[in-house]
Amino acid sequence: MSESPCLFCSVVRGEISATIVAETPECIAFRDINPQAPVHVLIIPREHIGSLNDATDAMTIGRLSLLAVEIARKEGIAESGYRTVINTNAAAGQTVFHVHLHLLGGRTLHWPPG
Ligand code: AMP
Ligand code: ZN
Repeated sequence: MSESPCLFCSVVRGEISATIVAETPECIAFRDINPQAPVHVLIIPREHIGSLNDATDAMTIGRLSLLAVEIARKEGIAESGYRTVINTNAAAGQTVFHVHLHLLGGRTLHWPPG
């Protein structure tokens, strides 16, 4: 689905600018345009997957979490703490339908998230 009008596929193709913080053969991580914490990074597979409901490959999904740990270490929040979140569909507030993992940290995060 590389020809889809998906916003995050456009980031993958370099058609829209993003502040990229990590790249691997399978994933890209970039800063959220509307950060909700001092560190707010989105980690996505290069492959278009609409939501977690559409995911079938454990490696693809697992890589998102492991890349989040790497970035958390680089950003200096691994020890203080951070949160990883995948919003799925309307009730969770998913707005971009290319699966992405939010990495949030650098401040105290409250629970439940609301
Ligand atoms: P979600 O609500 O879980 O679908 O998250 C989508 C996220 O994408 C939101 O936190 C937005 O601020 C973020 N976002 C939307 N457009 C861009 C963009 N062009 N670059 C970086 N982040 C974006
Ligand atoms: Zn996409």
